[in-house]
Amino acid sequence: MKINLQPNPHPVADDVRDSLMEAPGFGKYYTDNMVVAEWSEADGWQDAQLKAYGPISLDPATAVFHYGQEIFEGLKAYRQPDGGVSLFRPEANGLRFARSAARLALPEMPVDFFVETIETLVKQDRNWVPNNVGESLYIRPFMIATEVGLGVRPSNKATYFLIATPAAAYFNAANAVTVWISTEYVRAAPGGTGEAKCGGNYAASLVAQKQAATQGCDQVVWLDAVERKWVEEMGGMNLYFIKGSGKDAKVITPKLTGTLLPGITRDSILSVAADLGYQVEETMFSVDDWRDGIASGEITEIFACGTAAVISAIGAAKSEFGTWTTGDGTPGPITAEIRKTMLGIQHGTIEDKHGWNKRVF
Ligand SMILES: *Cc1c(COP(=O)(O)O)cnc(C)c1O
Repeated sequence: MKINLQPNPHPVADDVRDSLMEAPGFGKYYTDNMVVAEWSEADGWQDAQLKAYGPISLDPATAVFHYGQEIFEGLKAYRQPDGGVSLFRPEANGLRFARSAARLALPEMPVDFFVETIETLVKQDRNWVPNNVGESLYIRPFMIATEVGLGVRPSNKATYFLIATPAAAYFNAANAVTVWISTEYVRAAPGGTGEAKCGGNYAASLVAQKQAATQGCDQVVWLDAVERKWVEEMGGMNLYFIKGSGKDAKVITPKLTGTLLPGITRDSILSVAADLGYQVEETMFSVDDWRDGIASGEITEIFACGTAAVISAIGAAKSEFGTWTTGDGTPGPITAEIRKTMLGIQHGTIEDKHGWNKRVF
């Protein structure tokens, strides 16, 4: 499908943009343009447009406001050493976007078209891609149900949007996050929407996040819904546990059971950790394994991973069972090594053996 280019006639002035990008934060500033495309059951995808970023107008009876039929993605564009820009594994996001759409009864967007919308926006708004390592342009594709009416049924209309925001380096090398292991709330249950990237999953998680904050913790850790025993994820990120140290260390992540979100960062780290010479394992991992591994000293490092933060070390874990602190509570060396390797690949300073980077220009 052709994307009709109607770029913003009044982009942010160069000097203003440059000063905003000295401390971009996360989600504070948006680029000059966005992409919008419409879908209807009758006509399929049509009217793809790149146009000025700005507010949208919708009838109050639009389906998404009432029944939450919405999905999203998150990926990043990274500056390369020669000044060019690459996307990290955008086809993987496109495939997941299509799977999320299928689960939420929204239309699947062809992966090629999904990637083309992103390349078009990044090329147009190229000056919004930061230059420093760890910084990036965070890209947020999303889709909403736009049929007007209060009947509960799959919408016969949908709108796709693509927006982008410059993102600062998120990682604080000195600090590990503390987590609250929730035994009260669950994120995802078998047969539910846990594998889909939909806003509803996040809406349902916020009360647990609030509870974690009340406990003095930064993030919530989710257990499985059935046995409340198996460790699944942290907030909106996947988890890794490291047993042992040095080159004999084992890098472990909870197995995908249908209730975990299959993270692209998680998937990439499976390969990166193996490339670095570690043993890698996807397995069922319980709260007892966590407690016992900390008590015996076998677990030496824990981290969470996702596109936004890439990697966050986890220090203390609190729960109704007690408090367990990983090592001395600060980020460990293997966590730092994996993070450095991931960022090196993303920024084009370490060989991209797996062909993950997609050059935009
Ligand atoms: C997006 C997301 C992740 C991380 O996925 P990435 O593809 O690595 O960004 C993990 N868990 C949840 C619940 C998510 O929504």
